[in-house]
Amino acid sequence: MEKQSIVEGRTFNDYISKQATINIGTIGHVAHGKSTLVKAITGLSTVKFKKEKEKNMTIKLGYANAKIYQCENPFCQQRYSSRGSQAPDEFPCEICNQRQEKSNQEIEDEVEEVTMMRLVRHISFVDTPGHEVLMSTMMNGVSVMDAAILLIAANEPCPQPQTVEHFQAINQLNNVVVVQNKVDLVSEERAIENHQAIKSFLKNGRTPIIPISAQRQINIDCLLEHIVTRIPIPVRDLDSPARMTIVRSFDVNRPACKIDDLKGGVAGGSLLRGTLKLNDEIEIRPGIIYKDFTCQPIITNVISLCSEENDLSEAIPGGLIAVGTSMDPILSKSDRLVGQVLGLRGTLPVIYCELEICYLLHDGFKRIKKNERILINILSNSVETTVFALKADLCKMRLSKPICCDLETRLSLSRKIAGKWRLIGHGLLLRGRQVTMQEA
Ligand code: ZN
Repeated sequence: MEKQSIVEGRTFNDYISKQATINIGTIGHVAHGKSTLVKAITGLSTVKFKKEKEKNMTIKLGYANAKIYQCENPFCQQRYSSRGSQAPDEFPCEICNQRQEKSNQEIEDEVEEVTMMRLVRHISFVDTPGHEVLMSTMMNGVSVMDAAILLIAANEPCPQPQTVEHFQAINQLNNVVVVQNKVDLVSEERAIENHQAIKSFLKNGRTPIIPISAQRQINIDCLLEHIVTRIPIPVRDLDSPARMTIVRSFDVNRPACKIDDLKGGVAGGSLLRGTLKLNDEIEIRPGIIYKDFTCQPIITNVISLCSEENDLSEAIPGGLIAVGTSMDPILSKSDRLVGQVLGLRGTLPVIYCELEICYLLHDGFKRIKKNERILINILSNSVETTVFALKADLCKMRLSKPICCDLETRLSLSRKIAGKWRLIGHGLLLRGRQVTMQEA
């Protein structure tokens, strides 16, 4: 199963040694322990994201990568463990070798055999903000998720209002696992009651529920085992030209740096398909957007590829990849390219300024009206739109900024209720009106 996502001449382990190959979203209330869980698995503190929040006042998607290891001893008492992205691909199992040491002391001449923990997965957590005002950032995160962990705290009644919305947001994903956190804070009886409440909320009987304590690192190995054995790495299309949605973009130069030291713009995102290599000639669409909505795609080259601290010569889908380019850094400064699409030159879809979609509203929401403002999330874009035509389950909308995407792309719809964007339904892009493009 895992061997399918490989370019000829390379092994699966060549990739997972340096790069994550699956994106797993962490979703749930702020207080339900997402950051603690991500820290328990990746060893990385999300403090840097907190600082970022204070500084920029915009809360972005957080990424943290982890390597998951399996002990070669099938009878090991803790077969799965995890480390950060830069950890080696194997190391002695602490549990198995502890025992061995004792027996070795008894039998002096015996040859020492070391039981190893071996790398089996390299995953990337997409940590989404849990506040309701940030629903749209969360929806952008869902666009790059292959699977999701929904965190629910065992010491609170389930479902919380936000949990309902969170679950709707990820219902398009095939692999969702519910993690019942903070079981150490409640009695066994209460934990079972809460488990039942989660079960009836999920309504489907097939979404697994794993009780853990992220704080005390209890049952984390069970969650890791679930990820390795039950969440397959999606089969990626590596033959099609590379396509990446941009979720962050930067100017990495310090103020007043010398012209010779100036580095090109950097775009961060997740590859949806294909492979991206150093020196590839790439295009970014819509690119530069003018006031009259004409667009000028950006043509540039791949200068560097990075996954967290690991330099890559070739990137495949999975995790957040930072693509260093030769473009003018002013174009990528301060997340200007977020929502845009990056790919090999001449292979990207067209750019639209109006969309026609078919849609379905979630239960309990009023029909969409003509002239209503609707926020759509499509790929990593959040775009405000104005509805100008409606018929049965079809809707035509004018976009507040042009977007580049394929037809039949899924999107979500939000409406402002009491001053906040609330997720009200899902849709599918059927047709669109294209913008005028200028020569790049
Ligand atoms: Zn072991």
